[in-house]
Amino acid sequence: MDGTFNDNDLSKVVAADKANVWHHLSQHKPYETSDPRIIVEGKGMRVWDQNGKEWLDAVSGGVWTVNVGYGRESICDAVRDQLMKLCYFAQVAGSVPGALFAEKLISKMPGMSRVYYTNSGSEANEKVFKLVRQIAHKKYGGKKTKILYRDRDYHGSTLATMSAGGQQERNAQYGPFAPDFVRVPHCMEYRKHELGLEHLSGEEFGRAAADLIEEVILREGPETVGLLCLEPITAGGGVIEAPEGYWPRVREICDKYDILLHIDEVVCGVGRTGKWFGYQHFGIEPDFVTMAKGVASGYAAIACMVTTEKVFDMFKDDASDPLNYFRDISTFGGCTAGPAAALVNMQIIEDEELLDNTTAMGEHMKARFLEMQEKHAVIGDVRGLGLFQGLELVQDRESKEPVPEAMAQKVVAECGAQGVIIGVTNRSIPGRNNTLCFSPALIATKADIDAICDAVDNALTTVFG
Ligand code: PMP
Repeated sequence: MDGTFNDNDLSKVVAADKANVWHHLSQHKPYETSDPRIIVEGKGMRVWDQNGKEWLDAVSGGVWTVNVGYGRESICDAVRDQLMKLCYFAQVAGSVPGALFAEKLISKMPGMSRVYYTNSGSEANEKVFKLVRQIAHKKYGGKKTKILYRDRDYHGSTLATMSAGGQQERNAQYGPFAPDFVRVPHCMEYRKHELGLEHLSGEEFGRAAADLIEEVILREGPETVGLLCLEPITAGGGVIEAPEGYWPRVREICDKYDILLHIDEVVCGVGRTGKWFGYQHFGIEPDFVTMAKGVASGYAAIACMVTTEKVFDMFKDDASDPLNYFRDISTFGGCTAGPAAALVNMQIIEDEELLDNTTAMGEHMKARFLEMQEKHAVIGDVRGLGLFQGLELVQDRESKEPVPEAMAQKVVAECGAQGVIIGVTNRSIPGRNNTLCFSPALIATKADIDAICDAVDNALTTVFG
């Protein structure tokens, strides 16, 4: 693989980037004296930067996206063929890949039946919020407009999805937010003392954490609450899985108070945790599921809002009533490249048995991390499922005080020095990223996982001794 540019091209690209690009989640001051990293090529689990340096990508494109790995000819061929045939037509009409992908997707989601195409996770989530507000007006006389979201969860970057954002550190600068979004407590066993539930563990704790949601519903008035929106495993908020007992109780509570349940699978969806969807580990049936990142592994922009026939049916009554009509469009939901790529992406996961690989490699990764926890006192907690895992770094296991963010960033830099890209995210004090996160492509081999774990092991030794 030759990932280098000639010097001339390289200096032009770097200059253009520095002059004209505003990078995401980045403060640009350091670029005044150093160059940004420009990723030029990718193949399988690896990417190459502008200097020809090879990196093992343990985060699937930075944010849990490239599930089937880089350089997939079959996806590129399908996208090219589709674009030559028909690049776009608004989703007011159907398209061939749109119909075929919807059918395939629904075949993996028992109980669900309708797919609404959009182009980002935030947007897919907003569709759910809009539908819930419309249902409130249609069925409940304008009541049941409240949307519950959970502490530490993230649902997007738009103002309405930020109104459902459980990470205070991301929201502080952007208020005021939309009304009728109400926070419920987190469900994190490692920090159960914050919930006053330190006396409980395992399943009992899980049920008690879900009971805290019921308390909020009763406080707000069940007649005002329309939706509970949750990540199956909290991603950017610190890779947080709910303990046994939580999910069945969540569904029970939603049924009891006639509240719709929305699972945001933008990160966990399409194989990341070893099942097609994260919620499928928990034996529950949601009313809405949203997904984005892994749907086409980043080969094209596509996101989906999926719901049940029961919800869809509510919008089929008397066409003269505007409350029966979902007056919504997403222009690029009509791009055909997305479903064309998504169809092949899903086929690859099936043909190469990547769900099984994710489960097996995830178990191997977890075992390595638990081994490392015995050696490095700084690893307070090991969390996650399949190829979606996190290590929370603490100064002291007793107090669980997070390490300073600079130390976690040093670990990331030390992994970088060994050619491995890992992520760091936040679960603790606002603004203090102390949780290393890992989401390699679902094609990872044992050697890839070992290379990632070895790099982390060395980095922790270098930074913390
Ligand atoms: N939900 C979750 C759980 C996410 O992690 C993200 C993105 N990180 C989103 C929604 C928003 O997706 P997008 O960036 O495509 O709008």
